[in-house]
Amino acid sequence: MEVRSMNELLEICSSEQKSISEIMLMMEIEKSGRNEEKIISMMEERLLKMKDAVDSGINDASTAPSGISGGDAVKMYEYVKQGKALSGSFISDAMTYSMATSESNARMGVIVATPTAGAAGILPGVLFSIHKNSGTPFKDLVMGLFTASMLGYVIANRSFISGAAGGCQAEVGSATAMAAGTIVELKGGTPQQVVNATALAMKSLLGLVCDPVAGLVEVPCIKRNVIGTSIAFSAADMSLAGIESRIPCDEVIEAMYRIGKDMPRTLRETSLGGLAMTETGKKVKERLFCRKS
Ligand code: SF4
Repeated sequence: MEVRSMNELLEICSSEQKSISEIMLMMEIEKSGRNEEKIISMMEERLLKMKDAVDSGINDASTAPSGISGGDAVKMYEYVKQGKALSGSFISDAMTYSMATSESNARMGVIVATPTAGAAGILPGVLFSIHKNSGTPFKDLVMGLFTASMLGYVIANRSFISGAAGGCQAEVGSATAMAAGTIVELKGGTPQQVVNATALAMKSLLGLVCDPVAGLVEVPCIKRNVIGTSIAFSAADMSLAGIESRIPCDEVIEAMYRIGKDMPRTLRETSLGGLAMTETGKKVKERLFCRKS
């Protein structure tokens, strides 16, 4: 079995009468030669690693070795716990868990790249928020990882998933799109609604540049992960409400590819443009590496 586009994926789901996560599981069995039990247990391990990163992040207020990030997940966690968050519980918890994961990454902790380390906070953010707020069991979250994997697989094969190749639209954009689709499947949406949410989320981040300060995956990466979770929930809600993307998902992915190709090198993880070249961004780099930009 090969899945080369979202349209093809929808056709397979329809002919097999299966969900996107089930199709991904079938494909993985076929490609890897492992049995279902083994593949699910490997995915469970990844979910538990994600949980460890979240737990570590919400309990550790230390700064990263760079000194430019750390401690914000604890602040967010306390703020949400006090009932002060303006966003609803799904989004505010997802923001907290996403920040916790991304801060763990900055501290060199173990994370699961979904699809990359820079964008690793978004998927666990939404998954553990759904677990907390709607009681979705871990076994369903594991299947959610298969949904996200399939969406990421198609995006990666048709476009980019790294900031160096296509800008942050390819990293945070892809992760947000994967998370949006995953939320929809976990909440009982159809494969068409999953793909639609993927398109809605990705569209909202097209053109986002990759401009990490001092070349470190911290500023603006961590906060982009946090905000990615709210976009994922917004896209999922729109799709579950029956609102469609006017541009089909495969065409949105193609647009992301073309935009990435047009994006100058200075805005593709070189730290030669955008926020990295602001006055403060340059000072941070100078302080960390003791030389002028
Ligand atoms: S700014 Fe660049 S390094 Fe940071 S998350 Fe986005 S793509 Fe990754």
